[in-house]
Amino acid sequence: MIGHVKKALRDSYGRLADDLRISVTDRCNFRCIYCMPAEGLKWLARDDILRFEEIHRLARIFVERYGVRTIRITGGEPLVRVKVEELVGMINSLDPTLDITMTTNGVLLAQKAQALRDAGLKRVNVSLDTLSLDRFKEMARRDAFERVIEGLAAAEEVGLSPIKLNVVVMKGYNDGEVVEFARLAREKAYDVRFIEFMPLDADGIWKEDLVVPSQRIQEQIEDLFPLVAISEDRPAPATKFKFADGSPGGVGFISSVSQAFCATCNRVRLTAEGGLRTCLFSLQETPLRDLLRSGASDDHLGRVIEAAIWRKEEGHLIGQAGFVKPVKNMSQIGG
Ligand code: SAM
Ligand code: SF4
Repeated sequence: MIGHVKKALRDSYGRLADDLRISVTDRCNFRCIYCMPAEGLKWLARDDILRFEEIHRLARIFVERYGVRTIRITGGEPLVRVKVEELVGMINSLDPTLDITMTTNGVLLAQKAQALRDAGLKRVNVSLDTLSLDRFKEMARRDAFERVIEGLAAAEEVGLSPIKLNVVVMKGYNDGEVVEFARLAREKAYDVRFIEFMPLDADGIWKEDLVVPSQRIQEQIEDLFPLVAISEDRPAPATKFKFADGSPGGVGFISSVSQAFCATCNRVRLTAEGGLRTCLFSLQETPLRDLLRSGASDDHLGRVIEAAIWRKEEGHLIGQAGFVKPVKNMSQIGG
């Protein structure tokens, strides 16, 4: 890039924003109980969703101007966006050393893994909340467990590893399976991340009683498999552990409810319709789509992005009196 020195994106609390999450669609082929209603949601119109060229342009600005190195493609379900691998290739062409990853429910992964890998995707996070076929049907509201397992195998085969599994733990549903997931992490060398259920579900079923605090999960695992904390040089929302006996794999905890990590949050999100969100729980976002479509220059977009990041919220207030649930649910934001 000519004429530009990279400048870090900082908010008014001094946090760096260098982890960009891009939602490529609000649509999904699952109906996870903690995310979507059984009947689905009203999807965005095709024209309202950013085109690949528009996403690529914003990604270029984040990478070239602001030194962003980590880009996660998410949704909705990113693999339902037609030819999403082409977008991965376009972003990869900005700089093939970028850490481009994807969060997916895995159901289309067997078909797509090779193309994604060839396009430059480095790793995948596959969301899998249960190892039981019946419970899968109950939690994802789809009979797709086996296809997700096939997707995981395909991802491993093409080298989209180390594989991370995202497990949203809900009391009374899958909280009895956490030790089984730790066992799977050891057997398959997976990194399993246990995520606390957040009030971002469209059905409004969230209540604190359904949240299993990470501490409790960790204790259950440590009864069988002692853990050793991995220290990070960068701030990370997940606290990560390896197994003390040297077994492969590891576990991590995303404790957004019981131990918010807002003070070190380095994330910024772009919604499928081009809204910049500085927090999952933001009550407003900065729309970039119309600016893109009205011929705004990179300098202009850069100024809007910098101002939006500067205004990043100090933190969310889950569990406190002032908490206001965002209108959008997780699939509309891009988790
Ligand atoms: N559809 C893809 C998937 O499920 O992996 C990507 C989008 S999904 C919104 C991203 C992540 O958010 C998934 O790991 C999902 O389990 C998680 N998630 C969705 N709703 C959540 C909630 N209410 N609390 C915590 N995590 C949630
Ligand atoms: Fe779809 Fe992912 Fe939401 Fe499940 S969590 S309904 S797979 S977007």
